[in-house]
Amino acid sequence: MLPQLKKYILDHEDWLMEKILNYAKQQGYTEYTSTLREAWRLSISGLSKSLIATLNAKGLDLELGPHEKYISDPASQFGIIEAQEHRKRGVNIDMFLGLMKYYRQSYSDLIRASNFEDQIKFQYEQIIKRFFDRVEIGFCLQWTPVKDESIVKDLQLSNRVMTNEKNRYLTIFESLSMPVFIVTFDGIVENMNHAASKMLNYDTVPGTQYYGEKDTHPLLFIQIFPWLDSFFKRFKAGSDKIKTFETMINNESQFFFISFSRSLDISGKFSDTVIVIIEDITERKTMEKELEKLATTDPLTGAKNRRSFLNLFRKEMKRSLRYNYSLALFMIDIDHFKKINDNFGHDTGDKVLRQLVAKSFSVLRESDLFGRWGGEEFILLLPEIDIHQAYSAAERLRDVLAKSELMSNDGVNIRFTVSIGFTILRNKNISIDGAIKKADKALYMAKKQGRNRAVFLESKSEQ
Ligand code: GH3
Ligand code: MG
Ligand code: MG
Repeated sequence: MLPQLKKYILDHEDWLMEKILNYAKQQGYTEYTSTLREAWRLSISGLSKSLIATLNAKGLDLELGPHEKYISDPASQFGIIEAQEHRKRGVNIDMFLGLMKYYRQSYSDLIRASNFEDQIKFQYEQIIKRFFDRVEIGFCLQWTPVKDESIVKDLQLSNRVMTNEKNRYLTIFESLSMPVFIVTFDGIVENMNHAASKMLNYDTVPGTQYYGEKDTHPLLFIQIFPWLDSFFKRFKAGSDKIKTFETMINNESQFFFISFSRSLDISGKFSDTVIVIIEDITERKTMEKELEKLATTDPLTGAKNRRSFLNLFRKEMKRSLRYNYSLALFMIDIDHFKKINDNFGHDTGDKVLRQLVAKSFSVLRESDLFGRWGGEEFILLLPEIDIHQAYSAAERLRDVLAKSELMSNDGVNIRFTVSIGFTILRNKNISIDGAIKKADKALYMAKKQGRNRAVFLESKSEQ
C-alpha cells in the first residue's frame, strides 16, 4: 500500500501544482506569491518529498501523541525550515498557515480524484491530514519562541538581500545591449531599458525609467512604434509564447529585428505584459545586401554574373511553367570587339562593355534578366513574351546599341554593333541548356550572315 501511495503522489506533481495554483488564485494568495511556474513546482515537490520521507520513517501510522518527538520527524522538520524561511521574508503566520490549508486541500483532492477503493481513499486522506498536522506543529514550534527584536533583525537582513537582488536584475536589464520594452496588453510602455531610451533618443542615464518620476501621461507603444501596432495586436490576440521576425520601414531604408515574448508569470500579477525587443539591424542588412550584390553581379558592368543569371533563370523557368507563359532567351555578342580593344585600348573596350549594359537597361523591362555570359558576350531573358514581341525587342536592342556613341580614351567618337541570336522557351520539354545552345547557334548564324543583326531559331521539344 505504501509504494502505491508514494507512486501516486509522485506521478501527479503537475496535477497538484495546477490545483494549488488555482486555489491560490481563487483565494487571492497569488498577490503575495512567486510568479514563475518553477517556484510552484518546487513547493509541491518539497512537500511531496517530505511526505514520502515521513512515510518512510513512520509507515502508514502518522497519528499524534503527547510524547511525540516532533523534532526528529521529517514532516515537522519541514515545517520548522519553512517557518524559518518565511519568517525571514516577513510572511505572516496567518497567511502562511492559510495557504498551507489549500496545499493540504490539494493533496486531499488528489486522493479523492483517484480510483482507489473508498476504504483506501479514506485511509490515505487521513494520512495526508496527519502529515499536514505534523508540518503545522513543526511550524508553530519554530515560530513562537522568537522575540520581536530578532524578527526585526531577520527582516532587515532579508530586506537587504531582496533589495540587492532587485538591483542586480535591474542593472542587468539596464546593461542589456538590446533595446527592451515592457508593454502591457493595453499598449502602455511600463518600462524600457537604457538601450531602448537611447534608441528613442531620450536623453537619459541608466535607471531613469525605473527611478524617475512616473509621467502622468503614460507612454503608449503605438505612439513610438505605430508601424508595429498591427504585429503587437496580432501577437496579443494569438497564443504564441514568442514571436520573432524582421521588418523594415521608410522604404526599406531601415531594418529591425523584433521579438515579442509573453511574460512567464503564472500568478496573474504580471501576465498581461509583453516583453518587446526592437533592434536596429540596418547596418547588418545593408552589408548583407552589398555582399549579395557583390556575389551576384559582374563588377565591371553591373549585369548579373553567370552563376546568378542561371539561378534566376531556373526560378523564372519554374514560374513560367506554373503560370504558363513563354520566355525569350537572347545571346548578344559585340561585333569585332577585338578591333575596338586593338585600336583604342582595353580601357575603351571596358567602356564599350559598360555602355552596352547601360543602354540595354534603358530599353528593357524591370522583370528582364540581363547577365554577362563572359568576355563581350551577354545573355538576356525576357519573361511573358511572344515571338513577335521578342523580334521587336531584339530589333530595338540592336538598334539602340548601334546608334549609341561613346568617346574613346583618346577622344575619338566610336560606335559599335552587336549580333543577337534568340529563341523562345514555351514548354517544359525545352531545357535551359537546350535553349542556350539554340540561342548560341542563332548568334553564330547572325555573325555568319554579316553581323549587326538578330536571328531567331526555334527551340524544338526535346522529348
Ligand atoms: P566577333 O564579331 O566574331 O564576335 O569578333 P570579336 O573580335 O568580337 O570576337 P573575339 O571573341 O575574337 O574577341 C573577343 C574579345 O573580347 C577578346 C578579348 O580580349 C576581349 N575581352 C574579353 N573580356 C574583356 C573585357 O573585360 N574587357 C575588354 N576590354 N576586352 C575583353
Ligand atoms: Mg564578339
Ligand atoms: Mg565573343
